[in-house]
Amino acid sequence: MSTTATDTLTAPVPLGGPTLPQERRIVTSIPGPRSQELLARKADAVAAGVGHTVPIQAVAAGGGVVVDADGNSLIDLGAGIAVTTLGNAHPRIVAAVQEQVAQFTHTCFMVSPYESYVAVAEALNRITPGSHAKKSALFNSGAEAVENAVKIARKYTKKQAVVAFDHGYHGRTNLTMALTAKSMPYKSGFGPFASEVYRAPMSYPFRDGGLSGADAARKAISVIEKQVGADNLAAVIIEPIQGEGGFIVPADGFLQGLLTWCRSNNVVFIADEIQTGFARTGAMFASDLFGIEPDLITTAKGIAGGLPLAAVTGRAEIMDASHAGGLGGTYGGNPLACAAALAAIDVFENDGLTERAEQIGAILTDRLRRMQSADPRIGDIRGRGAMIAAEFVVPATGDADGTLTSTIAKACIAEGVIVLTCGTYGNVIRFLPPLSISDELLHEALDVVEAALAAA
Ligand SMILES: *Cc1c(COP(=O)(O)O)cnc(C)c1O
Repeated sequence: MSTTATDTLTAPVPLGGPTLPQERRIVTSIPGPRSQELLARKADAVAAGVGHTVPIQAVAAGGGVVVDADGNSLIDLGAGIAVTTLGNAHPRIVAAVQEQVAQFTHTCFMVSPYESYVAVAEALNRITPGSHAKKSALFNSGAEAVENAVKIARKYTKKQAVVAFDHGYHGRTNLTMALTAKSMPYKSGFGPFASEVYRAPMSYPFRDGGLSGADAARKAISVIEKQVGADNLAAVIIEPIQGEGGFIVPADGFLQGLLTWCRSNNVVFIADEIQTGFARTGAMFASDLFGIEPDLITTAKGIAGGLPLAAVTGRAEIMDASHAGGLGGTYGGNPLACAAALAAIDVFENDGLTERAEQIGAILTDRLRRMQSADPRIGDIRGRGAMIAAEFVVPATGDADGTLTSTIAKACIAEGVIVLTCGTYGNVIRFLPPLSISDELLHEALDVVEAALAAA
Protein backbone atom coordinates (compact mmCIF):
# COMPACT_ATOMS: atom_id res chain seq x y z
CA MET A 1 0.00 0.00 0.00
CA SER A 2 2.88 2.43 0.51
CA THR A 3 4.46 4.00 -2.52
CA THR A 4 6.63 7.07 -2.33
CA ALA A 5 5.79 10.20 -4.24
CA THR A 6 8.86 9.77 -6.45
CA ASP A 7 7.73 6.28 -7.53
CA THR A 8 4.34 7.56 -8.55
CA LEU A 9 5.82 10.61 -10.28
CA THR A 10 7.82 8.38 -12.62
CA ALA A 11 5.22 5.61 -12.95
CA PRO A 12 4.17 5.03 -16.56
CA VAL A 13 0.61 6.10 -17.37
CA PRO A 14 -1.48 2.92 -17.85
CA LEU A 15 -3.61 2.42 -20.95
CA GLY A 16 -7.32 2.77 -20.23
CA GLY A 17 -10.11 0.42 -21.18
CA PRO A 18 -11.38 -2.85 -19.76
CA THR A 19 -7.92 -4.43 -19.40
CA LEU A 20 -6.96 -1.90 -16.72
CA PRO A 21 -6.51 -3.80 -13.41
CA GLN A 22 -9.97 -3.94 -11.85
CA GLU A 23 -9.15 -3.02 -8.29
CA ARG A 24 -9.55 -0.33 -5.68
CA ARG A 25 -6.03 0.79 -4.84
CA ILE A 26 -5.15 3.71 -2.59
CA VAL A 27 -1.42 4.51 -2.61
CA THR A 28 -1.54 8.17 -1.49
CA SER A 29 -4.07 10.22 0.36
CA ILE A 30 -6.53 11.76 -2.10
CA PRO A 31 -5.54 14.10 -3.65
CA GLY A 32 -1.98 12.82 -3.98
CA PRO A 33 0.92 15.10 -4.90
CA ARG A 34 0.48 14.94 -8.68
CA SER A 35 -3.23 15.56 -8.41
CA GLN A 36 -2.63 18.45 -6.03
CA GLU A 37 -0.26 19.96 -8.55
CA LEU A 38 -2.92 19.84 -11.28
CA LEU A 39 -5.64 21.20 -8.98
CA ALA A 40 -3.37 24.16 -8.12
CA ARG A 41 -2.92 24.85 -11.85
CA LYS A 42 -6.67 24.47 -12.33
CA ALA A 43 -7.34 27.06 -9.63
CA ASP A 44 -5.02 29.50 -11.43
CA ALA A 45 -6.11 28.82 -15.01
CA VAL A 46 -9.70 27.60 -15.05
CA ALA A 47 -12.72 29.75 -14.25
CA ALA A 48 -13.85 29.30 -10.65
CA GLY A 49 -17.39 28.48 -11.78
CA VAL A 50 -16.23 25.17 -13.23
CA GLY A 51 -16.19 22.97 -10.14
CA HIS A 52 -15.12 19.38 -9.57
CA THR A 53 -16.38 16.57 -7.33
CA VAL A 54 -13.41 14.20 -7.15
CA PRO A 55 -10.06 15.92 -6.40
CA ILE A 56 -7.82 13.83 -8.65
CA GLN A 57 -5.96 14.08 -11.92
CA ALA A 58 -7.53 11.32 -14.01
CA VAL A 59 -5.10 9.57 -16.38
CA ALA A 60 -6.87 6.35 -17.39
CA ALA A 61 -10.22 4.66 -16.93
CA GLY A 62 -12.02 1.50 -17.96
CA GLY A 63 -14.18 -1.36 -16.73
CA GLY A 64 -15.23 -0.08 -13.33
CA VAL A 65 -12.25 2.08 -12.30
CA VAL A 66 -10.69 5.51 -12.77
CA VAL A 67 -6.91 5.75 -12.23
CA ASP A 68 -5.24 8.98 -11.14
CA ALA A 69 -1.78 10.43 -11.75
CA ASP A 70 -0.64 9.29 -8.31
CA GLY A 71 -1.43 5.65 -9.07
CA ASN A 72 -4.67 5.49 -7.07
CA SER A 73 -7.41 3.37 -8.63
CA LEU A 74 -10.92 4.48 -7.70
CA ILE A 75 -14.10 2.45 -8.18
CA ASP A 76 -16.37 4.39 -10.52
CA LEU A 77 -20.01 4.67 -9.46
CA GLY A 78 -20.61 7.80 -11.55
CA ALA A 79 -19.63 6.96 -15.15
CA GLY A 80 -18.86 10.64 -15.77
CA ILE A 81 -22.53 11.41 -14.98
CA ALA A 82 -24.14 8.49 -16.82
CA VAL A 83 -22.00 8.90 -19.95
CA THR A 84 -19.56 5.99 -20.09
CA THR A 85 -22.32 3.42 -19.70
CA LEU A 86 -20.32 0.85 -21.72
CA GLY A 87 -17.17 1.54 -19.70
CA ASN A 88 -14.44 4.01 -20.54
CA ALA A 89 -12.38 3.46 -23.68
CA HIS A 90 -14.58 0.56 -24.80
CA PRO A 91 -12.55 -1.29 -27.49
CA ARG A 92 -15.33 -1.05 -30.10
CA ILE A 93 -15.58 2.71 -29.63
CA VAL A 94 -11.82 3.20 -29.64
CA ALA A 95 -11.53 1.28 -32.92
CA ALA A 96 -14.41 3.14 -34.57
CA VAL A 97 -13.02 6.54 -33.61
CA GLN A 98 -9.46 5.64 -34.64
CA GLU A 99 -10.67 4.55 -38.05
CA GLN A 100 -12.75 7.68 -38.55
CA VAL A 101 -10.14 10.16 -37.29
CA ALA A 102 -7.74 9.01 -40.00
CA GLN A 103 -10.43 9.28 -42.68
CA PHE A 104 -11.82 12.78 -42.06
CA THR A 105 -12.55 14.76 -38.92
CA HIS A 106 -15.09 17.31 -40.13
CA THR A 107 -16.85 18.56 -43.21
CA CYS A 108 -19.84 20.15 -41.44
CA PHE A 109 -22.89 18.01 -42.19
CA MET A 110 -24.75 21.11 -43.39
CA VAL A 111 -22.01 21.67 -46.01
CA SER A 112 -21.07 18.17 -47.17
CA PRO A 113 -23.21 15.35 -45.70
CA TYR A 114 -21.68 11.99 -44.77
CA GLU A 115 -23.11 8.55 -44.15
CA SER A 116 -22.51 8.05 -40.41
CA TYR A 117 -24.77 10.99 -39.44
CA VAL A 118 -27.62 9.50 -41.48
CA ALA A 119 -26.95 6.05 -39.99
CA VAL A 120 -27.13 7.46 -36.44
CA ALA A 121 -30.45 9.14 -37.30
CA GLU A 122 -31.75 5.84 -38.73
CA ALA A 123 -30.64 3.95 -35.61
CA LEU A 124 -32.27 6.47 -33.25
CA ASN A 125 -35.49 6.44 -35.27
CA ARG A 126 -35.52 2.66 -34.97
CA ILE A 127 -34.62 2.17 -31.28
CA THR A 128 -36.64 4.99 -29.66
CA PRO A 129 -40.14 4.05 -28.40
CA GLY A 130 -42.94 3.74 -30.96
CA SER A 131 -43.13 2.36 -34.49
CA HIS A 132 -44.49 5.60 -36.04
CA ALA A 133 -42.47 7.44 -38.72
CA LYS A 134 -39.62 9.32 -37.02
CA LYS A 135 -36.78 11.66 -37.91
CA SER A 136 -33.74 12.90 -35.97
CA ALA A 137 -31.37 15.86 -35.83
CA LEU A 138 -27.95 15.74 -34.15
CA PHE A 139 -26.29 18.27 -31.84
CA ASN A 140 -23.33 18.53 -29.46
CA SER A 141 -24.73 18.64 -25.95
CA GLY A 142 -27.82 17.76 -24.01
CA ALA A 143 -28.73 21.40 -23.47
CA GLU A 144 -28.47 22.04 -27.19
CA ALA A 145 -30.81 19.10 -27.90
CA VAL A 146 -33.35 20.46 -25.40
CA GLU A 147 -33.16 23.96 -26.96
CA ASN A 148 -33.82 22.46 -30.38
CA ALA A 149 -36.67 20.24 -29.20
CA VAL A 150 -38.40 23.40 -27.92
CA LYS A 151 -37.68 25.24 -31.19
CA ILE A 152 -39.22 22.36 -33.15
CA ALA A 153 -42.29 22.12 -30.90
CA ARG A 154 -42.91 25.87 -31.21
CA LYS A 155 -42.58 25.82 -34.96
CA TYR A 156 -44.92 22.83 -35.25
CA THR A 157 -47.67 24.04 -32.90
CA LYS A 158 -47.26 27.77 -33.70
CA LYS A 159 -47.50 28.26 -29.92
CA GLN A 160 -44.87 29.52 -27.47
CA ALA A 161 -45.24 28.43 -23.86
CA VAL A 162 -43.30 25.49 -22.42
CA VAL A 163 -44.02 23.65 -19.17
CA ALA A 164 -41.28 21.99 -17.13
CA PHE A 165 -41.56 20.36 -13.71
CA ASP A 166 -40.49 20.84 -10.11
CA HIS A 167 -37.03 19.27 -9.57
CA GLY A 168 -36.44 19.14 -13.35
CA TYR A 169 -32.99 19.64 -14.87
CA HIS A 170 -32.47 20.41 -18.54
CA GLY A 171 -29.09 22.17 -18.84
CA ARG A 172 -27.10 25.36 -18.39
CA THR A 173 -27.80 27.45 -21.51
CA ASN A 174 -30.26 30.32 -21.24
CA LEU A 175 -33.44 28.51 -22.24
CA THR A 176 -32.46 25.34 -20.39
CA MET A 177 -31.63 27.31 -17.22
CA ALA A 178 -35.18 28.64 -17.38
CA LEU A 179 -36.47 25.06 -17.73
CA THR A 180 -34.32 23.87 -14.82
CA ALA A 181 -35.93 24.11 -11.38
CA LYS A 182 -33.02 24.51 -8.97
CA SER A 183 -31.52 27.96 -8.48
CA MET A 184 -28.24 27.13 -6.73
CA PRO A 185 -25.90 26.36 -8.45
CA TYR A 186 -27.52 26.24 -11.89
CA LYS A 187 -29.26 29.63 -12.20
CA SER A 188 -28.36 31.94 -9.34
CA GLY A 189 -27.19 35.31 -10.67
CA PHE A 190 -27.36 34.23 -14.32
CA GLY A 191 -30.73 35.75 -15.24
CA PRO A 192 -32.74 37.15 -16.88
CA PHE A 193 -34.06 33.83 -18.15
CA ALA A 194 -36.00 32.95 -21.28
CA SER A 195 -39.66 33.86 -21.12
CA GLU A 196 -42.76 31.70 -21.63
CA VAL A 197 -41.46 28.92 -19.36
CA TYR A 198 -43.83 27.66 -16.65
CA ARG A 199 -43.50 25.04 -13.92
CA ALA A 200 -45.88 22.29 -12.85
CA PRO A 201 -45.79 19.98 -9.81
CA MET A 202 -44.02 16.64 -10.23
CA SER A 203 -45.17 13.25 -8.97
CA TYR A 204 -42.72 12.57 -6.10
CA PRO A 205 -44.10 9.55 -4.20
CA PHE A 206 -41.71 9.88 -1.24
CA ARG A 207 -42.64 13.51 -0.61
CA ASP A 208 -46.14 14.09 -2.01
CA GLY A 209 -47.98 11.87 0.45
CA GLY A 210 -48.09 8.99 -2.01
CA LEU A 211 -50.44 10.71 -4.46
CA SER A 212 -51.43 8.25 -7.21
CA GLY A 213 -50.01 8.86 -10.66
CA ALA A 214 -53.45 9.77 -12.00
CA ASP A 215 -54.07 12.26 -9.17
CA ALA A 216 -50.62 13.81 -9.53
CA ALA A 217 -51.23 14.18 -13.28
CA ARG A 218 -54.63 15.82 -12.63
CA LYS A 219 -52.96 18.25 -10.23
CA ALA A 220 -50.25 19.16 -12.77
CA ILE A 221 -52.78 19.50 -15.60
CA SER A 222 -54.95 21.77 -13.46
CA VAL A 223 -51.95 24.06 -12.82
CA ILE A 224 -51.13 24.05 -16.55
CA GLU A 225 -54.71 24.82 -17.61
CA LYS A 226 -55.16 27.58 -15.05
CA GLN A 227 -51.73 29.24 -15.30
CA VAL A 228 -50.78 28.72 -18.95
CA GLY A 229 -53.72 27.48 -21.00
CA ALA A 230 -53.49 24.75 -23.62
CA ASP A 231 -54.06 27.34 -26.38
CA ASN A 232 -50.70 28.92 -25.54
CA LEU A 233 -48.74 25.77 -24.78
CA ALA A 234 -46.28 24.38 -27.33
CA ALA A 235 -44.68 21.65 -25.25
CA VAL A 236 -44.40 19.83 -21.96
CA ILE A 237 -40.86 18.65 -21.20
CA ILE A 238 -40.16 16.05 -18.54
CA GLU A 239 -37.47 13.56 -17.54
CA PRO A 240 -39.27 10.17 -17.22
CA ILE A 241 -37.02 9.59 -14.18
CA GLN A 242 -35.53 12.85 -12.96
CA GLY A 243 -31.73 12.93 -12.86
CA GLU A 244 -30.16 15.93 -11.08
CA GLY A 245 -33.44 16.48 -9.22
CA GLY A 246 -32.91 13.28 -7.21
CA PHE A 247 -33.71 10.21 -9.31
CA ILE A 248 -37.39 10.83 -8.69
CA VAL A 249 -39.52 8.06 -10.23
CA PRO A 250 -43.06 9.31 -10.84
CA ALA A 251 -45.99 7.17 -9.69
CA ASP A 252 -47.43 4.85 -12.35
CA GLY A 253 -49.92 6.64 -14.56
CA PHE A 254 -48.44 10.13 -14.11
CA LEU A 255 -46.56 10.27 -17.41
CA GLN A 256 -49.38 8.52 -19.25
CA GLY A 257 -51.90 11.01 -17.85
CA LEU A 258 -49.81 13.97 -19.01
CA LEU A 259 -49.21 12.43 -22.42
CA THR A 260 -52.91 11.76 -22.98
CA TRP A 261 -53.73 15.36 -22.07
CA CYS A 262 -51.00 16.65 -24.42
CA ARG A 263 -52.37 14.54 -27.30
CA SER A 264 -55.85 15.96 -26.97
CA ASN A 265 -54.60 19.54 -26.70
CA ASN A 266 -52.07 19.78 -29.56
CA VAL A 267 -49.19 20.02 -27.07
CA VAL A 268 -45.89 18.31 -27.94
CA PHE A 269 -44.78 15.85 -25.22
CA ILE A 270 -40.97 15.93 -24.95
CA ALA A 271 -39.25 13.22 -22.91
CA ASP A 272 -35.79 14.39 -21.83
CA GLU A 273 -33.99 11.04 -21.78
CA ILE A 274 -30.52 12.57 -21.70
CA GLN A 275 -29.67 10.85 -18.41
CA THR A 276 -32.06 7.88 -18.59
CA GLY A 277 -31.37 6.79 -22.16
CA PHE A 278 -29.38 3.91 -23.65
CA ALA A 279 -29.91 0.90 -21.37
CA ARG A 280 -29.21 2.85 -18.18
CA THR A 281 -32.57 2.05 -16.57
CA GLY A 282 -32.77 -1.60 -17.67
CA ALA A 283 -34.67 -0.65 -20.84
CA MET A 284 -33.26 1.09 -23.90
CA PHE A 285 -35.23 4.19 -22.83
CA ALA A 286 -37.04 4.91 -19.57
CA SER A 287 -40.17 5.75 -21.60
CA ASP A 288 -40.30 2.03 -22.46
CA LEU A 289 -40.59 1.24 -18.73
CA PHE A 290 -43.68 3.42 -18.43
CA GLY A 291 -45.20 2.28 -21.73
CA ILE A 292 -45.25 5.78 -23.23
CA GLU A 293 -44.37 6.94 -26.74
CA PRO A 294 -43.25 10.57 -26.46
CA ASP A 295 -43.64 12.91 -29.45
CA LEU A 296 -40.00 14.00 -29.15
CA ILE A 297 -37.10 12.48 -27.22
CA THR A 298 -33.86 14.26 -26.37
CA THR A 299 -30.77 12.10 -25.92
CA ALA A 300 -27.07 12.73 -25.17
CA LYS A 301 -24.87 11.42 -22.31
CA GLY A 302 -24.76 7.64 -22.92
CA ILE A 303 -25.16 7.91 -26.68
CA ALA A 304 -21.54 7.81 -27.89
CA GLY A 305 -19.26 6.33 -25.23
CA GLY A 306 -18.08 9.74 -24.04
CA LEU A 307 -17.79 11.59 -27.32
CA PRO A 308 -19.92 14.72 -27.42
CA LEU A 309 -23.15 13.99 -29.27
CA ALA A 310 -26.83 14.71 -28.67
CA ALA A 311 -30.03 14.24 -30.61
CA VAL A 312 -33.68 15.11 -30.94
CA THR A 313 -35.76 12.23 -32.30
CA GLY A 314 -39.48 12.21 -32.86
CA ARG A 315 -42.59 12.14 -34.99
CA ALA A 316 -41.64 12.89 -38.58
CA GLU A 317 -44.38 15.49 -39.06
CA ILE A 318 -43.20 17.42 -36.00
CA MET A 319 -39.49 17.10 -36.79
CA ASP A 320 -40.15 18.33 -40.35
CA ALA A 321 -41.95 21.50 -39.20
CA SER A 322 -38.80 23.64 -39.45
CA HIS A 323 -37.79 25.35 -42.70
CA ALA A 324 -34.46 24.17 -44.20
CA GLY A 325 -31.52 25.85 -42.45
CA GLY A 326 -33.52 26.40 -39.25
CA LEU A 327 -31.79 23.58 -37.37
CA GLY A 328 -28.15 22.56 -37.21
CA GLY A 329 -24.78 23.88 -36.10
CA THR A 330 -21.14 23.73 -37.12
CA TYR A 331 -20.23 20.59 -35.20
CA GLY A 332 -23.58 18.86 -34.69
CA GLY A 333 -23.21 15.19 -35.61
CA ASN A 334 -19.43 15.37 -35.84
CA PRO A 335 -18.08 12.31 -37.69
CA LEU A 336 -15.98 11.04 -34.75
CA ALA A 337 -18.99 11.26 -32.44
CA CYS A 338 -21.20 9.54 -35.02
CA ALA A 339 -18.70 6.70 -35.49
CA ALA A 340 -18.62 6.26 -31.71
CA ALA A 341 -22.43 6.34 -31.48
CA LEU A 342 -22.85 3.67 -34.16
CA ALA A 343 -20.44 1.39 -32.31
CA ALA A 344 -22.09 2.15 -28.98
CA ILE A 345 -25.63 1.53 -30.24
CA ASP A 346 -24.52 -1.78 -31.74
CA VAL A 347 -23.11 -2.83 -28.35
CA PHE A 348 -26.23 -1.60 -26.51
CA GLU A 349 -28.45 -3.69 -28.77
CA ASN A 350 -26.39 -6.86 -28.99
CA ASP A 351 -24.34 -7.32 -25.81
CA GLY A 352 -27.11 -7.75 -23.22
CA LEU A 353 -26.67 -4.29 -21.71
CA THR A 354 -30.26 -3.81 -20.54
CA GLU A 355 -30.02 -7.16 -18.73
CA ARG A 356 -26.73 -6.09 -17.15
CA ALA A 357 -28.30 -2.82 -16.00
CA GLU A 358 -31.05 -4.83 -14.29
CA GLN A 359 -28.53 -7.09 -12.56
CA ILE A 360 -26.60 -4.07 -11.29
CA GLY A 361 -29.86 -2.50 -10.15
CA ALA A 362 -30.77 -5.66 -8.23
CA ILE A 363 -27.42 -5.65 -6.39
CA LEU A 364 -27.62 -1.93 -5.59
CA THR A 365 -31.22 -2.11 -4.41
CA ASP A 366 -30.70 -5.23 -2.30
CA ARG A 367 -27.60 -3.84 -0.56
CA LEU A 368 -29.13 -0.40 0.01
CA ARG A 369 -32.41 -1.86 1.35
CA ARG A 370 -30.44 -3.88 3.87
CA MET A 371 -28.60 -0.75 4.99
CA GLN A 372 -31.94 1.06 5.19
CA SER A 373 -33.52 -1.61 7.41
CA ALA A 374 -30.71 -1.01 9.94
CA ASP A 375 -30.53 2.77 9.56
CA PRO A 376 -33.55 5.11 9.47
CA ARG A 377 -31.41 7.92 8.06
CA ILE A 378 -31.96 6.30 4.65
CA GLY A 379 -35.45 7.58 3.92
CA ASP A 380 -35.97 6.21 0.44
CA ILE A 381 -34.30 3.92 -2.09
CA ARG A 382 -35.51 4.38 -5.64
CA GLY A 383 -34.62 4.23 -9.33
CA ARG A 384 -34.54 1.64 -12.09
CA GLY A 385 -31.74 -0.51 -13.44
CA ALA A 386 -28.28 0.99 -12.97
CA MET A 387 -29.80 4.34 -11.97
CA ILE A 388 -30.46 3.97 -8.24
CA ALA A 389 -30.42 6.54 -5.46
CA ALA A 390 -30.66 6.77 -1.69
CA GLU A 391 -32.36 9.79 -0.12
CA PHE A 392 -31.03 10.72 3.35
CA VAL A 393 -33.26 12.24 6.00
CA VAL A 394 -33.35 13.26 9.65
CA PRO A 395 -35.29 10.27 11.03
CA ALA A 396 -37.33 12.23 13.59
CA THR A 397 -38.71 14.76 11.11
CA GLY A 398 -38.19 13.28 7.63
CA ASP A 399 -36.40 16.51 6.70
CA ALA A 400 -33.69 16.34 4.04
CA ASP A 401 -30.20 15.75 5.47
CA GLY A 402 -27.81 17.33 2.99
CA THR A 403 -24.98 17.54 5.54
CA LEU A 404 -25.03 13.79 6.17
CA THR A 405 -25.16 13.18 2.42
CA SER A 406 -22.09 15.24 1.62
CA THR A 407 -20.21 13.74 4.60
CA ILE A 408 -20.85 10.23 3.25
CA ALA A 409 -19.95 11.20 -0.32
CA LYS A 410 -16.67 12.82 0.76
CA ALA A 411 -15.75 9.81 2.90
CA CYS A 412 -16.40 7.45 -0.03
CA ILE A 413 -14.18 9.47 -2.35
CA ALA A 414 -11.39 9.58 0.26
CA GLU A 415 -11.61 5.76 0.40
CA GLY A 416 -11.42 5.40 -3.38
CA VAL A 417 -15.08 5.20 -4.44
CA ILE A 418 -16.49 7.83 -6.80
CA VAL A 419 -20.08 8.69 -5.82
CA LEU A 420 -22.17 11.64 -6.94
CA THR A 421 -24.86 13.50 -5.03
CA CYS A 422 -28.01 15.12 -6.42
CA GLY A 423 -31.46 16.26 -5.40
CA THR A 424 -33.17 19.59 -4.94
CA TYR A 425 -32.21 19.43 -1.25
CA GLY A 426 -28.74 17.92 -1.89
CA ASN A 427 -29.67 14.87 0.17
CA VAL A 428 -29.48 12.13 -2.43
CA ILE A 429 -26.56 9.89 -3.37
CA ARG A 430 -26.97 8.54 -6.87
CA PHE A 431 -25.40 5.36 -8.16
CA LEU A 432 -24.66 5.35 -11.90
CA PRO A 433 -21.93 2.76 -12.39
CA PRO A 434 -20.67 1.86 -15.84
CA LEU A 435 -22.37 -1.37 -16.90
CA SER A 436 -18.87 -2.82 -17.36
CA ILE A 437 -18.25 -2.87 -13.60
CA SER A 438 -17.82 -6.35 -12.07
CA ASP A 439 -20.11 -7.58 -9.30
CA GLU A 440 -17.05 -7.86 -7.03
CA LEU A 441 -16.06 -4.22 -7.49
CA LEU A 442 -19.64 -3.08 -7.06
CA HIS A 443 -19.93 -4.98 -3.77
CA GLU A 444 -16.59 -3.60 -2.58
CA ALA A 445 -17.77 -0.07 -3.37
CA LEU A 446 -21.00 -0.67 -1.46
CA ASP A 447 -18.97 -1.97 1.52
CA VAL A 448 -17.22 1.42 1.50
CA VAL A 449 -20.56 3.27 1.31
CA GLU A 450 -21.90 1.19 4.20
CA ALA A 451 -18.83 1.92 6.34
CA ALA A 452 -19.04 5.63 5.50
CA LEU A 453 -22.70 5.69 6.55
CA ALA A 454 -21.90 3.90 9.82
CA ALA A 455 -19.07 6.32 10.59
CA ALA A 456 -21.02 9.48 9.73
C1 LIG B 1 -27.12 16.34 -18.29
C2 LIG B 1 -28.52 16.64 -18.65
C3 LIG B 1 -28.84 17.69 -19.54
C4 LIG B 1 -27.79 18.61 -20.12
O1 LIG B 1 -26.87 17.94 -20.90
P1 LIG B 1 -25.47 18.64 -21.24
O2 LIG B 1 -24.82 17.71 -22.21
O3 LIG B 1 -24.73 18.78 -19.96
O4 LIG B 1 -25.80 19.96 -21.85
C5 LIG B 1 -30.17 17.87 -19.88
N1 LIG B 1 -31.13 17.07 -19.38
C6 LIG B 1 -30.86 16.06 -18.55
C7 LIG B 1 -31.97 15.19 -18.04
C8 LIG B 1 -29.55 15.82 -18.13
O5 LIG B 1 -29.28 14.84 -17.27
